[in-house]
Amino acid sequence: MTAKEISELKTLLSAPKSIIIVPHKNPDGDAIGSTLALYHYLLLNDHNAKVIAPNDYPGFLKWMPNESDILHYDTSKDEADTLISDADLIFTLDFNALFRAGDMVHSLKDANATYVMIDHHQQPDDYAKFVYSDVDMSSTCEMVYNFIDMLGDSDKINSDIATCLYAGIMTDTGSFRFPSTSNKTHHIVASLIEKGANNAQIHNSIYDNNSYERLQLLGCALKNLKVIPELRTAYITLSQEELDTYNFQKGDTEGVVNYGLSLKGIIFAAIFIENRQEDIVKISLRSKGDFSVNEFSRAHFNGGGHTNAAGGRSDLSLQDTVEKFISILPNYKNALSL
Ligand code: 5GP
Ligand code: MN
Repeated sequence: MTAKEISELKTLLSAPKSIIIVPHKNPDGDAIGSTLALYHYLLLNDHNAKVIAPNDYPGFLKWMPNESDILHYDTSKDEADTLISDADLIFTLDFNALFRAGDMVHSLKDANATYVMIDHHQQPDDYAKFVYSDVDMSSTCEMVYNFIDMLGDSDKINSDIATCLYAGIMTDTGSFRFPSTSNKTHHIVASLIEKGANNAQIHNSIYDNNSYERLQLLGCALKNLKVIPELRTAYITLSQEELDTYNFQKGDTEGVVNYGLSLKGIIFAAIFIENRQEDIVKISLRSKGDFSVNEFSRAHFNGGGHTNAAGGRSDLSLQDTVEKFISILPNYKNALSL
């Protein structure tokens, strides 16, 4: 974002505005953390702000300060549509293509508001007047910290803002271990703790809140883990029947794909999760090093994301999806084999 754009935004934000803040569909810790942090910041500056999430999110995110203020588009469509059409400004956070807002995409496209995008995914679409896009950033939460700082307001970061930002940085960096975690990330995290984020409590709220059934489902996923050593690839499947057996709740499979990547020598991991209700297979892809799962997902599974973490979907059956995956892999032999 240029200095000129920052000063334009400062002018825009100098008088109270109606502002909508939107995370992507199936929001994760970074999406909820960044939107709520920005919400708290805008309220401090007397704006009429509202976070509208396309749909529900896991229970382990439902403790963040003022989380219950979030409007859910799928269950409050009329109220949300009015707010969207009356908005002066719309911030889209942690995504960069409007379709990723799910059913909200139609009213977002019709809105008259000025768009601001803050995001760290690759290949941003061109819908926002103000774009703060940086694929080298650990998380959108790190960018929201920088954004508030660029506006000259870092001294306004209070414990609520700090708590939301800490939660998002922690979840998107795999607890500060992914390569996108920089020295700057650690400086920001340190300042968030100074400003009142309780790091141990945040970790506990997100990671130590498992149900017994979630751990049993993890056990099932690990039993299903398959390895293709010559292509340094591992993958996991979970059928709808298996999900039902362990009373699957939203968020229960979050992070499971990473177990494949924790195997010695493996650089590419996938998880295929059957969703009979939507009649799709949801795919998560992770890699280490230069192998781009963003490119892989864009080319074969209608998705995208980052170089080392991407999502996608398939309309084939679970079995056919896995067969398609296995049949494509040899095309990447050069990148995947030693
Ligand atoms: P996950 O596997 O956790 O669903 O997604 C991994 C990463 O890829 C996340 O940062 C997520 O936002 C992003 N992602 C997931 N699905 C898509 C998609 O369809 N398109 C794009 N561009 N990014 C995605
Ligand atoms: Mn993110």
